[in-house]
Amino acid sequence: MTEKKTVPGYNIVNGKKGCQSIPFTERLISKIIRCKGTGCWIWQGASTTLGYGQIWKKGKNILAHRAVFEMFKYAVPKGFELDHLCRNKSCVNPQHLEVVTHSENLLRAMRHKKARAAIAKARGENAELAV
Ligand SMILES: [Zn+2]
Repeated sequence: MTEKKTVPGYNIVNGKKGCQSIPFTERLISKIIRCKGTGCWIWQGASTTLGYGQIWKKGKNILAHRAVFEMFKYAVPKGFELDHLCRNKSCVNPQHLEVVTHSENLLRAMRHKKARAAIAKARGENAELAV
């Protein structure tokens, strides 16, 4: 005789959990919303303290934009990073990401920060807040 028991979140059949974990790619895609105006794919899941999306995979947190890029394009070579061309840290659209070296990524970030500060100064705003 088969005994069926249901617990919220789990299906227990004959004392064994009958539930399946959601495949990684399905979890990854489910946390993205697309922004029509900018074309950005905004990450809705957890994020790092720096504002980059992150997702749990095989026992550790990984960067969401990197996972999406590698799913749609190719593996980021060792020692390289992804630069957000749209300057939106929560964006995971692979078309908005470019593989660069760490030093190039830092240079671009500094140039962007200087440009934002110059715009803020021209507007008479506090340049320190324009990041
Ligand atoms: Zn974007």
